[in-house]
Amino acid sequence: MRKMKLVLVGNGMAGVRALEELLKLAPDLYDITVFGAEPHPNYNRILLSPVLSGEQTLEQIVLNGFDWYAANGITLHTGKEVLEIDRRRRVVLAADGTEAAYDRLLIATGSNPVILPVPGAKLEGVITYRDIGDTQRMIDAASRHSHAVVIGGGLLGLEAANGLKARGMDVTVVHLMEWLMERQLDRIAGALLQSSLEKRGLKFRLPAQTREIVAGQPGSDAAGRVAAVRLADGETIPANLVVMAVGIRPNTALA
Ligand SMILES: Cc1cc2nc3c(=O)[nH]c(=O)nc-3n(C[C@H](O)[C@H](O)[C@H](O)COP(=O)(O)OP(=O)(O)OC[C@H]3O[C@@H](n4cnc5c(N)ncnc54)[C@H](O)[C@@H]3O)c2cc1C
Repeated sequence: MRKMKLVLVGNGMAGVRALEELLKLAPDLYDITVFGAEPHPNYNRILLSPVLSGEQTLEQIVLNGFDWYAANGITLHTGKEVLEIDRRRRVVLAADGTEAAYDRLLIATGSNPVILPVPGAKLEGVITYRDIGDTQRMIDAASRHSHAVVIGGGLLGLEAANGLKARGMDVTVVHLMEWLMERQLDRIAGALLQSSLEKRGLKFRLPAQTREIVAGQPGSDAAGRVAAVRLADGETIPANLVVMAVGIRPNTALA
């Protein structure tokens, strides 16, 4: 009997975990094909911060290596973003033209980081924090540049700030609210956290609003690249790297 075809779009934590359970329950039910926009096998996204701070390597955070897909007969397309679902033909189409037919389609495309709509947000050196590519960009920036600003004093922003500090950068966290991690902590706990991070050398501006990300002067080494962050009160903080960690939105575009 012909096996049913299952296509998973999104080679991330939730999707591949679902496949693991499915393979336990019914190993022979489906011919499985996976599309992942990133060029990597499934890894533990939560552990990107220890990679950033140098406590773990990328190899150590892989959850399912390429051999796992092969051993389970799964066709894996990495580095291929699915752009279209043709529901009439029951086919998905990737950016490079790769097609795969499905009987069942599982969409597990995760979330996209929010990008603040401030002037300069598209400058080189302004990034978000979601995947291995972003982590690698931060590691590279820390080896070449000295000043970082992290916008967002939630968990993700503080993890980014801590990692960049551990890699030798001078890091300032700009946070809109009155204390850090205000969703998880009350004012007193937020202040305790801030003082303990200040003892490690992190700097904070809060409550503070980002008005603009400033480009380097034309003709200078930093031309076309971020050079500073300007706050609503007029203060300008030098920055060769800006990390926006101001929330995520479900990535529902394809669905
Ligand atoms: C640095 C960091 C630290 C975190 N720490 C914690 C923590 O401590 N605790 C916690 O609970 N959570 C944490 N999270 C959040 C956690 O990682 C996510 O909740 C989890 O990864 C969500 O899994 P997912 O499979 O839904 O999405 P993801 O893991 O994001 O996987 C989605 C995948 O789909 C791919 N994709 C998207 N669109 C397409 C497309 N059209 N075609 C092909 N592929 C596509 C993406 O490239 C991505 O690889 C952290 C996140 C980050 C970034």
